[in-house]
Amino acid sequence: MLDCLVIGGGQSGLACGYYLHKRGLDFRILDAESAPGGAWQHTWDSLRLFSPATASNLPGMPMPAYPGYPPASHVVDYLRAYEKRYDLPVNRPVTVTRIYHRSASREDSHGWGGKDYFVVALRGGDAPTITARTVVAATGTWSSPFIPFYPGHFRGKQWHSAWYPGASPFAGARVAVVGGANSGAQIAADLLGTAARVDWFTHRPPRWMPDDIDGRDLFHRSRARLLAQKEGRPDPGSESSLGDIVMVPPVKAARDAGRLAAQPIFGRLDKLDHDHLIWCTGFRPALGPIRHLVAEGKAQVPGLFLVGYGSWTGPGSATITGVSPFAKQTAAAIEEIVRA
Ligand SMILES: Cc1cc2nc3c(=O)[nH]c(=O)nc-3n(C[C@H](O)[C@H](O)[C@H](O)COP(=O)(O)OP(=O)(O)OC[C@H]3O[C@@H](n4cnc5c(N)ncnc54)[C@H](O)[C@@H]3O)c2cc1C
Repeated sequence: MLDCLVIGGGQSGLACGYYLHKRGLDFRILDAESAPGGAWQHTWDSLRLFSPATASNLPGMPMPAYPGYPPASHVVDYLRAYEKRYDLPVNRPVTVTRIYHRSASREDSHGWGGKDYFVVALRGGDAPTITARTVVAATGTWSSPFIPFYPGHFRGKQWHSAWYPGASPFAGARVAVVGGANSGAQIAADLLGTAARVDWFTHRPPRWMPDDIDGRDLFHRSRARLLAQKEGRPDPGSESSLGDIVMVPPVKAARDAGRLAAQPIFGRLDKLDHDHLIWCTGFRPALGPIRHLVAEGKAQVPGLFLVGYGSWTGPGSATITGVSPFAKQTAAAIEEIVRA
């Protein structure tokens, strides 16, 4: 019987691991990937963080310096070094398929010494199930890409930004890119000069952030919102009031050259004459194994915690720097349950 089982070994799971370790709790992290790095292993080569390395830290260990905005591979190296440095107990590849809550208060159930616990079903582990007093879901969103419905039939090949392989497979092709946030702008800019034609479709005209704003300002904003929430003060305003698109150098260069003009979104897919359509339309929380225990963004049973899903679980919680306070408070709540 573990004190805690963490599902997911990306940055959110590791940040939880750091604080659980500090509190001397007995825990394990299960991760479906075969290597460290979480979702950062799957991003396209030209992706750059929207903040410098010095502003992208998990608790305890600074990210090594990098000139300019680091690529995803720098984050992967950092996460690998992070789990090694703190000797975090990560098992991979292991997929959690379902968790079952065993309530001590239910007559048809058996608590563990009068206490609630979870049975966690796995694929790929050294046993079919594990039991734990508490569970943290840190499964991220990458494995749950969202594609909106549009009527009609698209004749070419469809992609989501989650699977975007970089520009080279699109050489000489006509490509439609959909989505007015960072990945839409970055992928449209990335394709210029390789694809024969790039058409960028957005719901509303792109909202560029001021050129001198980067992730650091967004982190300050989300921290200010979190503090205001804790202290019961009015919300000082969402990060998106600054705009939707951070002006990382390739996006700024393409926009300034007049090559990144958006068109209003189409009404039907059969209006498009493109060879490829890339949906940059975001993600949903990857709640597969715990979906039945979550409603409206909240865990429905005691002892289950959700960490790292962005505005859904707390301002800034899906960023490298921003997950820390959520991981910290979760570890504190877990210790309270386990030691009660
Ligand atoms: C295009 C893009 C750019 C971004 N840029 C930045 C940036 O510049 N700076 C920044 O701070 N943030 C950025 N983010 C946001 C954020 O840092 C990432 O989304 C981050 O990957 C979230 O980390 P996570 O640990 O919550 O989830 P993930 O990294 O997705 O990790 C979740 C892990 O859980 C595993 N998992 C899922 N389901 C199961 C299961 N059932 N069983 C076992 N394991 C499971 C997955 O395999 C994965 O390893 C960006 C996001 C995107 C999409």
